Amino acid sequence: MCYFQPVTWKEFASLHPFIPNNQALGYLRMFHELEKDLCEITGFDKISFQPNSGAQGEYAGLRVIMAYLQAMGETHRKVCLIPTSAHGTNPASAQLCGMKIQGIDVDKNGAVCMKQLKENVEKHKDTLACLMITYPSTYGVFDSTIREICDMIHHFGGQVYMDGANMNAQVGICRPGDFGADVSHLNLHKTFCIPHGGGGPGMGPIGVKAHLAPYLPSHPVIQPYGMESPDSKSFGVISASPYGSSAILPISWSYIKMMGPAGLRQASEMAILNANYMSRRLDGYYKTLYKNDHGFVAHEFIIDCREFKKTANVEVVDIAKRLQDYGFHAPTTSWPVVGTLMVEPTESEHKDELDRFCDALIAIRYEIKQIEEGKIDKKINPLKMAPHCQQDVIVGNWDRPYDKVTAVYPAAFVIPSTKFWPTVGRIDDIYGDQNLVCSCPPMSTYESPFIEEPVVEERSIAV
Ligand SMILES: *Cc1c(COP(=O)(O)O)cnc(C)c1O
Repeated sequence: MCYFQPVTWKEFASLHPFIPNNQALGYLRMFHELEKDLCEITGFDKISFQPNSGAQGEYAGLRVIMAYLQAMGETHRKVCLIPTSAHGTNPASAQLCGMKIQGIDVDKNGAVCMKQLKENVEKHKDTLACLMITYPSTYGVFDSTIREICDMIHHFGGQVYMDGANMNAQVGICRPGDFGADVSHLNLHKTFCIPHGGGGPGMGPIGVKAHLAPYLPSHPVIQPYGMESPDSKSFGVISASPYGSSAILPISWSYIKMMGPAGLRQASEMAILNANYMSRRLDGYYKTLYKNDHGFVAHEFIIDCREFKKTANVEVVDIAKRLQDYGFHAPTTSWPVVGTLMVEPTESEHKDELDRFCDALIAIRYEIKQIEEGKIDKKINPLKMAPHCQQDVIVGNWDRPYDKVTAVYPAAFVIPSTKFWPTVGRIDDIYGDQNLVCSCPPMSTYESPFIEEPVVEERSIAV
């Protein structure tokens, strides 16, 4: 089966990462074309394909900034301003680079607080290295002052690192290189179609403006093309291979070619439209935490579930687990704001699917309401007991104050032929995280080569 997947063809898959550039002319051509397309999409001048993930791109990008500042004789610039709406990897990367992190608050709409930003830029004007900003932010907000923000940083001698993980809301519409970013990573495994379920592999190339290009990652074995010049001032190496996980780049290359400029723009527009559609449909049931003054969100939005703790003793985890009974894997839970759900529909789901998901959340809101009104028990209810697996309803006596149908077929669209059955019931996540259990066979299994059938102790717990 896999034989038919072009990315597994030996011409793509069997090249050694250290193959000399002149023996990999096909790859080289693909790098050039992909670089050209990504530069066109982002407004940058040069791309490095070396970082293997978004976080590694951040680290590489910050190192590029540091190398640039060093070359300018400004090594004392160490302060990195980061709005609180940033992804957690941002402060982690800045810390790894040895920068001094200064957080910047957001306002009631979730946008960067301009007053506080200005105060901090002025306070640190002699030591300002950069701003790390995610646009649109992880709060699902397009900062309308983004140009002003970038100008301010430049005015005070800093560089702008734009976290480009949310390019899904910009491709074909606007370009970071145009509104002031100096360097940015792209998550090819998010925006450009590389599947990344189960943790990889990913690709987090960085794009830079021309003044930063000489400082991009190099490699001791194979100099990435364009970095061969003797005046290259590269900060060094970021990955074991010169072009990262280049074997998956054909996916992004093909995606861009097949979508074309109009298709790419349409994908961004659909992603934004879908998020706004869902935010509106859920209005009145759930509060969208951050919206702009016109009531719009970017390509993702956060719904606030914190009040239900007070009104019904329901926590966000109960909603997440209950969604399984409706056939959905929960969206991002308690991140980037604790007690909330962050919904990012993207462009790729059908409207029926978006509606089913909204219907499930609305039905769950109705269940919460029944708890609020005292119509169902505060402790033993479909939310607190979720998810419900087959064993719950088949084995033993059903002694709960709600019926089995409510438990496992909670909505009209949950039907036997397509029902998704969770395999395990409610687990205490925190307990599990804090009490790790080794599920390998015990040492005794290996003691004697004459043991015919190793006795494996059942010590694993399902997580
Ligand atoms: C996903 C993401 C990252 C990190 O990317 P990885 O490839 O997971 O390392 C950084 N910033 C934002 C905003 C993201 O969404």
